[in-house]
Amino acid sequence: MRDILSELGIEATNSGASAGGFFDTHGEIIESVSPIDGKPIAKIRQATAEDYERAMQVGLEAFATWRTLGAPKRGEIVRQIGHALREKKEALGQLVSLEMGKIKVEGLGEVQEMIDMADFATGLSRQLYGLVMQSERKFHRMTETWHPLGMVGIISAFNFPVAVWSWNAFLAAVCGDVMIWKPSSLVPLCAIAVQKIADRVLAANGCAGVMTLVIGPGSSVGQRLLDDKRIPLISATGSNQMGERVAMSAAKRYARTILELGGNNALVVMGDANVDMALRSVLFGAVGTAGQRCTSTRRLLLDKSIEKTFLPRLVNAYKQIKIGDPLDPKTLMGPLVDKSAVADMMKALKIIKEQGGEILYGGKELSGAQYPGGCYVEPTIVLARPDMPIVREETFAPILYAIPFSGGVEKAIEIQNNVPQGLSSCIYTESLTNAERFLSAVGSDCGIANVNVGTSGAEIGGAFGGEKETGGGREAGSDSWKQYMRRQTQTINWSGELGLAQGIQFG
Ligand code: NAD
Repeated sequence: MRDILSELGIEATNSGASAGGFFDTHGEIIESVSPIDGKPIAKIRQATAEDYERAMQVGLEAFATWRTLGAPKRGEIVRQIGHALREKKEALGQLVSLEMGKIKVEGLGEVQEMIDMADFATGLSRQLYGLVMQSERKFHRMTETWHPLGMVGIISAFNFPVAVWSWNAFLAAVCGDVMIWKPSSLVPLCAIAVQKIADRVLAANGCAGVMTLVIGPGSSVGQRLLDDKRIPLISATGSNQMGERVAMSAAKRYARTILELGGNNALVVMGDANVDMALRSVLFGAVGTAGQRCTSTRRLLLDKSIEKTFLPRLVNAYKQIKIGDPLDPKTLMGPLVDKSAVADMMKALKIIKEQGGEILYGGKELSGAQYPGGCYVEPTIVLARPDMPIVREETFAPILYAIPFSGGVEKAIEIQNNVPQGLSSCIYTESLTNAERFLSAVGSDCGIANVNVGTSGAEIGGAFGGEKETGGGREAGSDSWKQYMRRQTQTINWSGELGLAQGIQFG
């Protein structure tokens, strides 16, 4: 592991801020601890308010030139960052596993997502199209042009320690924005490694300071960022509690937000479904990343006609899951991110039992020499009712609520939609009518709705995000880029006479 850390430039004690390069920070030292074995990996000296200010100043200075480069030129620099990520994919993917705990293929997948995002943003840099509209006035032309916004604040969660930054950073960069990133303090080394890769490319292109980083507590450094009038857009990924704070602080100063908050994602299996496919999909959706994806499958809505055959097979599949070191290629489920995540899961299981849920499989914390560090748990299946209050909440752990239903696709949609969150949803069915209803205006109310594709594992080409308490933001593909720019409607009069709209004659 030491080789990987040194390849990525991680030292025993690291600075927690970069603005055109890492500089000496002055905050308290925190330790990054691996959930694999509970052992410290390295130390980070966090940023203070003064350090934050330094990063902000450098970023704002960089904006003055960055916004004047042609977007394709900015795209070329993002392409180079993507290339640099390709070179470090193996090391960075392993660091994600080491610091966050997801299995190695998922860590590598996260870095691949960054690379895909760089490719996407590079292509996009030649397609930031505006519109030309017909003017009602003679010899006038109306256009809609997109301009850079300025400084974008990026707050990211622990569970996607590198990819979520790239969804935002690469779009913002080609759009002509500069940015300040505040990552989760649970995964600071991933952020430092990524920032070092980006810093090198930016410096080589004479654009140091376009992407800046500050590591510090949400309550101080994070809150400062939320209240900073120099930041017109905050893109925040994390819990609903955090999202509420972001929304309120931003609203007070008329800033825009992109909120990517909690999910409570349902996978519906109809009686006519391809059961083998559905089963594999549930397994990946509920157990992948140890249930710590915003899109993790949390509710399994099972047509009663197949309940008795499906659930025993699912329990059997759960029994085969190898839990342990995420860097071991045989492992399917690594640890939770820290001990407090384990405590939260155990607390949720107690409440589940009080509310009448029946544990069909799992539910235990794993200990002993095979499970060092105290963060390993059994993935858990609970036979549940949709009216149990806890089923409406997001517990960020591998707990799957199996909810049998009867009443056809209409009933499934009703249960699926009856939660406060609206991120991801899917239906397994061979019926065109069921599928179309699920995707229609009377179907799923989520930002993501799939047919015969699970709730998690979205591609970057689509706009990613969710409705209701998930926050309404959209990141990554499609036209998400528009949120990182300001739209200007421009009217040009070449008639030589002053013409007013709506035929108004004035004076
Ligand atoms: P969290 O809310 O605890 O932390 C997220 C980030 O917010 C961290 O960087 C944290 O330091 C920061 N933060 C906390 N308080 C702040 C404040 N007052 N001001 C500014 N920043 C503050 O979330 P987490 O535990 O890291 O991540 C898990 C949550 O993230 C889950 O709810 C999950 O569903 C959600 N998530 C959503 C998406 C999505 O796209 N919808 C993606 C990933 C994760």
